[in-house]
Amino acid sequence: MNEKKDDESKEKPKNPFEEMQRQLQEMFGNANINVVPTGFGFHQPGEPEDKAPEPPPPVEESDPLDLIRKFFLKPRDIKDDLDRFVIRQDEAKRAMAVAVCDHYNHVRRCLENPELAERPYMKQNVLLLGPTGVGKTYLLRTLARLIGVPFVKADATKFSETGYVGHDVEDMVRDLVRTADNDVELAKYGIIYIDEIDKIAASGGQGKDVSGKGVQTNLLKLMEETDVNLVSQSDMMGQMQAMMEMQRGGKAPTRTMSTRHILFIVSGAFTGMNEIIRKRMKTNVIGFSSVAGTEELDEDRLLHAATTRDFVDYGYEPEFIGRLPVRVAFDSLKAQDLLAILEQAEDNILSKYIEDFKGYGIELKVDTQALGEIAERAEAEKTGARGLMTVLEGLLREYKYELPSTAVKELVLTPNMVKNPAADLQALLADNEHAQRDIHLQEIEAFVLRFEEQHGLKLKFHKKAAEAVAKEAEKSGRTVHTVCERLFKDYPYGLKLLQNQTGKKVFSITPAMVKNPDKALSELIMKQYQAGEDASQDA
Ligand code: ADP
Repeated sequence: MNEKKDDESKEKPKNPFEEMQRQLQEMFGNANINVVPTGFGFHQPGEPEDKAPEPPPPVEESDPLDLIRKFFLKPRDIKDDLDRFVIRQDEAKRAMAVAVCDHYNHVRRCLENPELAERPYMKQNVLLLGPTGVGKTYLLRTLARLIGVPFVKADATKFSETGYVGHDVEDMVRDLVRTADNDVELAKYGIIYIDEIDKIAASGGQGKDVSGKGVQTNLLKLMEETDVNLVSQSDMMGQMQAMMEMQRGGKAPTRTMSTRHILFIVSGAFTGMNEIIRKRMKTNVIGFSSVAGTEELDEDRLLHAATTRDFVDYGYEPEFIGRLPVRVAFDSLKAQDLLAILEQAEDNILSKYIEDFKGYGIELKVDTQALGEIAERAEAEKTGARGLMTVLEGLLREYKYELPSTAVKELVLTPNMVKNPAADLQALLADNEHAQRDIHLQEIEAFVLRFEEQHGLKLKFHKKAAEAVAKEAEKSGRTVHTVCERLFKDYPYGLKLLQNQTGKKVFSITPAMVKNPDKALSELIMKQYQAGEDASQDA
């Protein structure tokens, strides 16, 4: 009897509102929380029932699928485009160009001929191998942008077998729909990229996750073909919306999406795979005269020689690895490649810094030798092109902080600066001290204008007073703006009093006011009141 009761109490409520109520009660430990749907066509008990809002009139829009319908690119076109942004990785660029062209040609033909869409199709899902920061994500993002399809990236490590503790693999499909601005038709043809796939190899291999096998099975289903419910069980808002639509339309709308035409790309660094490959190669040649050949392949090239058997030995299910027919290894990036990124790749990280400085009216120029030095240092970071970001950030952060408030309009990146950025910055600031004074005086003008705009009162700085403010800014390391705001914080109120008394709108700022602003202001006010009283007594 009791058992049945327990089972009944475990059973999930069917209505999403009840489910939401249950979750909120659990979250706050309060059984009195009641969820009452309001708005969107629902009404509160006791309130007059509103009419459901009219749907907005349809807007004529261009069809986002047009891009795929007109897909005409050839693998060489794609490779040419990738070459503009991605340095090295030729093998990967070629393989990806072919995989993507095959896939989107097929999709285009399916859109033209729905019969074709029903026929069995072996998708070109791709497995990328390579260390971090060598351009895997960058290459895929560039590709997705070129084709005009939505793209999402996820880490395999965040998935759990049940989806109960971690995320559910189907979340990626829902993310893809969100990325496509909820355009399900477009999302169907998107690209899903799953990184750190090596972490879901079963524990028998090098992978660490015991539930890896289960996640592999779930991913396998997703990569093949499955219908994903677009409203996740844990998405309360989504559940609610589905419920509302059901109420309006009388029946629940279908909210699933097939993964049939989604292109899946997975990647990983596959640490430890080199050992497996080396061992297999040794065994293969052992019957022959020597084990040479394996030694000839340097560490970098070994991953290029990975076979299905190596992946199975690493801890993958043969079915899983079999669904990833296109495999390409990325090369690690050496100093000369990193230099090529800085010098040749469009939109590279350095161009971002150049634009950032331009935003402050400063021209950042670079010396080739300095770039070589940066590339060397970046290689030592051993994080691929990410090392460039680390080095440039360490180098330019202080310059970005200091220079915008100075007179400096040009910054040249020299080898000296790379070697000793702090000393170089100090020397630059010292060189500009004189020009800096002029900048400070201009900033005082700007303060005067703002003061007039805000308070309707005009300040006239005596020359010596302006110089004293500029000096104070230099001494304290604060901006002129901050110094003025602090010195004259009570002046709007005090000068307004004087204005009411005298009708005056223009006030002089004297050196005494900069030296002791409060004292000078109260003396001024006292003097004015005194004069007012004298005048009234005379009258
Ligand atoms: P990962 O291989 O780990 O996915 P990313 O593609 O995220 O690395 O690389 C990080 C950043 O480094 C990119 O956004 C890009 O700016 C730069 N980058 C990496 N590899 C290359 C490359 N081969 N050519 C040009 N830029 C690159």
